[in-house]
Amino acid sequence: MTTAERPATSPTAPAPLLDVRDLHVVFRTRDGIAHAVNGVSYRVEQGRTLAVLGESGSGKSVTAQAVMGILDTPPGEITSGEIRFHGRDLLTLPEKERRTLRGAQMAMVFQDALSALNPVLSVGDQIAEMFTVHRGMSTRQARERAVELMERVGIPAARERVRQYPHQFSGGMRQRIMIAMALALEPALVIADEPTTALDVTVQAQVMELLAQLQAELNTGLVLITHDLGVVADVADHIAVMYAGRIVESAPVHDLYRAPAHPYTRALLDSIPRLDRKGRSLHAIAGLPPNLTAIPPGCAFHPRCPLARAVCRTDEPPLYEVNSERGSACHFWRETLEGGTGHE
Ligand code: SF4
Repeated sequence: MTTAERPATSPTAPAPLLDVRDLHVVFRTRDGIAHAVNGVSYRVEQGRTLAVLGESGSGKSVTAQAVMGILDTPPGEITSGEIRFHGRDLLTLPEKERRTLRGAQMAMVFQDALSALNPVLSVGDQIAEMFTVHRGMSTRQARERAVELMERVGIPAARERVRQYPHQFSGGMRQRIMIAMALALEPALVIADEPTTALDVTVQAQVMELLAQLQAELNTGLVLITHDLGVVADVADHIAVMYAGRIVESAPVHDLYRAPAHPYTRALLDSIPRLDRKGRSLHAIAGLPPNLTAIPPGCAFHPRCPLARAVCRTDEPPLYEVNSERGSACHFWRETLEGGTGHE
């Protein structure tokens, strides 16, 4: 059994921080019903990081939006499943209670800080609002906390810059401000959706390091959503790889890098530049992700898979148990696993 696919907790075990169970989400579009999330299960424990990896349209962000309660409904609709936070199913909570949880106990870092931040409010006011609304602090106390937080996330001259507006900061600094806002109330869970995609490589590493450092200090559970396997190696404990709305591989991070148990994961690893393989060409994954209104029968990856055989076109693979911590939704996971990668 894996972190991404486990049965319900035993009556004596403490409930995990986040426990997503068999979640299904559809979008009703003019072209038909898009099956965006098709039976996703994963868990996040306090203080641990789960990276959810996949191409655009794999369902990773839609799952996160469902967890946070910010799915666009309609056209989106959660058709079945459970999202348990500290053991309580969020899908049965009244919207008012979910709103209270957001910010205070669950927070999100978005990809594009410029559109997520309010352009007509100073960053200080936006951070301070978290403390006035959720903690009942006075404006003065809240402003002081905002300065402290800006210092903590590495904004130089925070006391002066607290009055500035989002457009007056660089992309990296804005992302730091978003992280400050997400962690302001020391939530138990943070979901970071492609938090560094819009930044250049050096700044990406700094922002990721900051996120990992604060997460460790606050013992926060972190769901890190990314399309880039390269950014998660040093920060994640466990990886769930998504394809066509399903988790196709779930494994501890180092096991997955060393030897993937799914051809799609292998293809993702082969597309990462490696210093020890200078001069060798990178492999792009052939073909395109499937249309979610017409997901191929059998294994959804079969039109792109170099190992595909007849059974792959007819029988959908379950998430096979590779060992107690790993799962792979590939009929031929043993062969794939034996291939290794040489990534350490
Ligand atoms: Fe490839 Fe078949 Fe495995 Fe799917 S089940 S990943 S098509 S080998």
